[in-house]
Amino acid sequence: MLLYCGAFRKLDDLLCPIGDSLAREHCGGDYKLSEAILLKSGFESSDLADVFDVLRSRGGFCDCEILYNVAETSRLKSAYWHNRGQGSPRHAKELEKLRDRGLAIAHTGLRKNSGKEGQKDK
Ligand SMILES: [Zn+2]
Repeated sequence: MLLYCGAFRKLDDLLCPIGDSLAREHCGGDYKLSEAILLKSGFESSDLADVFDVLRSRGGFCDCEILYNVAETSRLKSAYWHNRGQGSPRHAKELEKLRDRGLAIAHTGLRKNSGKEGQKDK
């Protein structure tokens, strides 16, 4: 996975930029950001399916999950654990539920309609 390290870092820069001056991108539940980064890093679009296969096999089903589950370290991941309890990142509720059950962090199937989430766990 060394090959992807630079890409992870760039993805991290987008999803969790250093400082406030940079616009923060949000994971859309797909590989839109990673795809753009990989293409810029010299991957052919025909290679991407293979790359994403590998990422999926490691629990990276979307841009943010790549950083949470596949990358060894990422600011996004540290920021997530660091900020627990004091204002949650976007996927925190879902992530926490999964973590409590000992599963990998996952964003797949996450509902898109944020805002009203009346769902309760018992
Ligand atoms: Zn995501």
